[in-house]
Amino acid sequence: MDDFDFENRIVAPTEIMGDNDSDNPLRPKTLDDYIGQKKAKQNLAVFIEAAKQRNESLDHVLLYGPPGLGKTTLSGIIANELRVNLRITSGPAIEKPGDLAAILTNLNEGDVLFIDEIHRISRAVEEILYPAMEDFAIDIVTGKGQMAASYHLPLPHFTLVGATTRAGQLTAPLRDRFGVSLRLELYTPEELARIVTRSASILNIEIEPDGALEIASRSRGTPRIANRMLKRVRDFAQVMSDGVITLQTAQIALERLEIDELGLDANDRRMLSAIVKFYRGGPVGLETLAAAIGEEAVTIEDVIEPYLMQIGFLNRTPRGRCITKAACLHMGFDMPDAQDGQIKFE
Ligand code: ADP
Repeated sequence: MDDFDFENRIVAPTEIMGDNDSDNPLRPKTLDDYIGQKKAKQNLAVFIEAAKQRNESLDHVLLYGPPGLGKTTLSGIIANELRVNLRITSGPAIEKPGDLAAILTNLNEGDVLFIDEIHRISRAVEEILYPAMEDFAIDIVTGKGQMAASYHLPLPHFTLVGATTRAGQLTAPLRDRFGVSLRLELYTPEELARIVTRSASILNIEIEPDGALEIASRSRGTPRIANRMLKRVRDFAQVMSDGVITLQTAQIALERLEIDELGLDANDRRMLSAIVKFYRGGPVGLETLAAAIGEEAVTIEDVIEPYLMQIGFLNRTPRGRCITKAACLHMGFDMPDAQDGQIKFE
């Protein structure tokens, strides 16, 4: 089977070359500009306002949901709304407890510390994080044996914003230390169309409403993908229709990029066909499926499945993944036979 290139495909929700995400003019800076995620936004607005009124730091916030939905963006907005500095790091980047201690001791009162992929921090680092989050202090031990000395170092009151693709992967003690926990959902095509329109105006791209909706419907519920598609479709529009993105240019461009009307690309199609071809529609265990298509199980779980489940193409059952009737119809597959009563279409 061909190798998958999940990392660099246009519908990858993780960052790829060309996204330029760290210093991105498309990132909204205020809650008002942040489109969608109504529930999370409403709650956050209250917590921010309350913290501001009390002149206190905001409680620690855990953001969870698939990649590309706006977790980093939201941490920037929180810092901006609170008028404090934002410090960005990630779980894998903090290798030793000393690395975290250095970051924490350099924060100013009220600052926001964003830790992406917080489920990937090591146990030793996590141990430092507990007292830092709870008591705003860390204990540092220097020297060994008789020379050992322990210092209790107070820290400024900071707000930790942790982001993870799966809250379930966090240890319970860490999860418990977040006062606010917000789940980000995949966006609707209408919300994504608003994001595409906003991005187009920032990038000076002329786009018609149905062109924006077309890009939005093929973006797998993910703003990062929508923005990336907008940039690629712009190239086609420039050559084909004087730079204006119309419904037709969007359709032609996305077809050329092999992204179908639901946002599935060749790799999604291959994964779905593998379930039908090799496992008669499922159920197939995640690890088995991962081995069959040469992909890591975590990539399948975090990156590919959320959208396929959202559009009702894939079911997770205790015995494994099953393809649905809707997926078979969309893909033009023959219906697989029901096995052990496991696949019950309808
Ligand atoms: P995550 O941290 O969840 O992977 P990001 O915060 O990096 O996602 O968001 C990816 C990109 O999508 C950002 O660069 C931003 O331009 C865009 N984006 C995300 N959420 C929104 C939103 N609610 N409104 C407008 N643009 C958004």
